[in-house]
Amino acid sequence: MNPTLYIIGGGPGDPELITLKAVRALEKADVILYDALVSDQLLAHARPDVRLIFVGKRKGRKELSQQEINELIVFYASRTSCVVRLKGGDPFVFGRGHEELEYASRRGIAVEVIPGISSALAAPASAGIPLTKRGVNESFWVITGTLSSGEISNDIALASESSATVIILMGISKLKEILSIFVKARSPFEPAAIVEHATLPTQRVISGTVYSLAEQIHADEVRTPAVIVIGKVVDERHVATPTGLVEGEVMMLQRKVI
Ligand code: SAH
Repeated sequence: MNPTLYIIGGGPGDPELITLKAVRALEKADVILYDALVSDQLLAHARPDVRLIFVGKRKGRKELSQQEINELIVFYASRTSCVVRLKGGDPFVFGRGHEELEYASRRGIAVEVIPGISSALAAPASAGIPLTKRGVNESFWVITGTLSSGEISNDIALASESSATVIILMGISKLKEILSIFVKARSPFEPAAIVEHATLPTQRVISGTVYSLAEQIHADEVRTPAVIVIGKVVDERHVATPTGLVEGEVMMLQRKVI
């Protein structure tokens, strides 16, 4: 049976970083429900008569609850033959994609998931930072900076005790708190970077150490979406900036600030 609902990853931002399979699903969709971090250029793959429904957060508008989104998905999937739920990055990386899958499949809707390139992987890569490098690190952790309770995840403290590279999503509002955990558990000199607007023409990388970033960068100066990368791999960064990046979009902070 052909799936009625496709839960698809739209990639990290650059509209070319979507899979062919996801594009094929967009092309045949009757209805597309999409989030805030999704590029308008992805919607250009849709049929002219498609019904586009924005379900993300937008200033000045009450956000839809997850329950309301689930219900909308099921409403359309019960009435049309192809619904696409389009999410930023990968739908199963902090995207609540699996909750939507469960809700729809419990109601008898056939669902297919199409993975996407997560910003967790794409942000370091497009900043020239290897997630793993032989002789430098052995693993990486991807952690959310903020739990639904508003608390900081205890996994951040656990990860800071390890030698792993740590990639933090949704962490900017807790930037100082996060960095200070690493200053204490590792060293003030532990390399760190913030990758803003990864893979987009506005991409900017701020690199330094956990201490220099904590001292010199205020959360409200960071343009979101942004990913925090902490670990020795940051020092391996290939600074010859990829085409599209101009001077000034890469900020290097002083290393010896203490
Ligand atoms: N499912 C998404 C993540 C959703 S959570 C994925 O796989 O990428 C949203 C968080 O993702 C943001 O707070 C930010 O930390 C990160 N993010 C998404 N797009 C980004 C981008 N283009 N550049 C930097 N960070 C990004």
